[in-house]
Amino acid sequence: MRIPLDRESSTPIYHQIRLFIQDQISSGKLAPEVRLPASRELARNLGVSRLTVTNAYAELEAQGLVYTKQGGGTYVASIPVDYSALIGKYPAANPPAWQNQLLTSSWESASQGLDQMIASATHPDLISFAEGGGDSSLFPLDDFRKALHNVLRQKGRAALSYGDSAGYAPLRNTIAQILTNQGIPAHPDHVLVTTGSQQALGMVVRLLTRPGDSVLIESPTHMGFIVLCHSSDINMIEVPVDEEGMKVDRVEELLCRVNPKLIYTVPNFQNPTGACLSSIRRRKLVALAEKYNLPILEDDFVGDLRYKGIAQPALKALDRNGSVIYVGTFSKMLIPCLRIGFLVAADVVYERLRDIKHNSDVTTSNLMQHALDAYITVGRYQASLRKARFIFNQRRGVMINALSHYMPAGVRWNNALGGLYIWLQLPGKLSADEFYAIAAKTGVIYAPGSFFFPNRDTHSFLRLNFTRNPPCVIEEGIKRLGNALKEFLSKQVN
Ligand code: PMP
Repeated sequence: MRIPLDRESSTPIYHQIRLFIQDQISSGKLAPEVRLPASRELARNLGVSRLTVTNAYAELEAQGLVYTKQGGGTYVASIPVDYSALIGKYPAANPPAWQNQLLTSSWESASQGLDQMIASATHPDLISFAEGGGDSSLFPLDDFRKALHNVLRQKGRAALSYGDSAGYAPLRNTIAQILTNQGIPAHPDHVLVTTGSQQALGMVVRLLTRPGDSVLIESPTHMGFIVLCHSSDINMIEVPVDEEGMKVDRVEELLCRVNPKLIYTVPNFQNPTGACLSSIRRRKLVALAEKYNLPILEDDFVGDLRYKGIAQPALKALDRNGSVIYVGTFSKMLIPCLRIGFLVAADVVYERLRDIKHNSDVTTSNLMQHALDAYITVGRYQASLRKARFIFNQRRGVMINALSHYMPAGVRWNNALGGLYIWLQLPGKLSADEFYAIAAKTGVIYAPGSFFFPNRDTHSFLRLNFTRNPPCVIEEGIKRLGNALKEFLSKQVN
């Protein structure tokens, strides 16, 4: 325990020790039942006499903040933490000037805004279509528990070390095999394991852009990428999306005009629209990147979850000269809390990204990588993919049928050939942001579409996740949504 002591102060040393520990306890930094250092040890560390520490502990005990156990040792007592003292303290009345810059920063965290909206819905029987991920209840918990157990038993301390910044070699091997199986040729040495694919996106932005630069994005797009750009002071040049994905015919003119540093695309079952980039547009985009000497960041977060139609080639598979940096994740197919994503790049791009990875968090949890590698083989991956596809496709069908049944005229939605979402447009100029509170009151919530536009200026869309609820809940949720919308519409008319 490091206690800052002021030996020049008129406050006695034992009292300074008491005050410090008291503050730690009341602010919750020292939790109940934590053992305080032995008085002899603390006295030695602080360079004071043992009696000084014993006196401080005795006063804390008299206050009821600590107690002594029979066998010896002083422990923090289980008293309710009084956070009110902290509330007065932060934000400080006169924060240092460097904090003012942060207050005037131009970006707000949209993802937190959505999280708060979701958390504020208090209906006792709430049905949520708002979250971004898949259904974690499909995750084979027992198999994974066994894998984790085996790793700890067989690999022992090897799995508990930091590990390689590029990722655990056998896992990189498995990822390369899975990708190659899907027509994305990848050498294990070109695979870099990241802490979720969000980290990979951040690393690429950090490598290839500087504040004030521009990137080309689909509009709407993944909220996490928008927040990333806002927080890095990167300008977003928006390319509209239709049912065939990014409108690539708009790209060349923009490339000539704004000189972006990067093109970011989610070509498969885009978040939030569910659109899939057509084969012709894919080829055009890769050709444009080559012609204009521009990198493409391909975010393939749910590329495997196709329910209808034929698979399109990954941009990485069309890439002849290393223009494309490919990013994937196990979050949607397996479970987000693994926090295991990956990117594929080569040569100097790979080396620089590995440096950035090392500088950001040294390595993705080595233990989790070992466990995932013990669990996932190409065959197992394919099996869980088949299962997820089957279940999600069923839920997708239920949601589309329910929408047809319960939505009032004028509402439009896509059919989502794959992925997790249906993108729905409200009739007229109705705002999904305003409708949210009304829907929430009737017990159903969604993600308002404005969160997926850089300026939050488009309001008539909403995103529905069809993968997280069983069919009967989906049916009931869409029924509530349809009824709430009919009521909302009738109030607009009257
Ligand atoms: N890309 C897209 C398009 C996403 O929607 C998300 C999360 N919802 C991510 C990347 C990041 O996912 P993760 O970090 O869990 O891999």
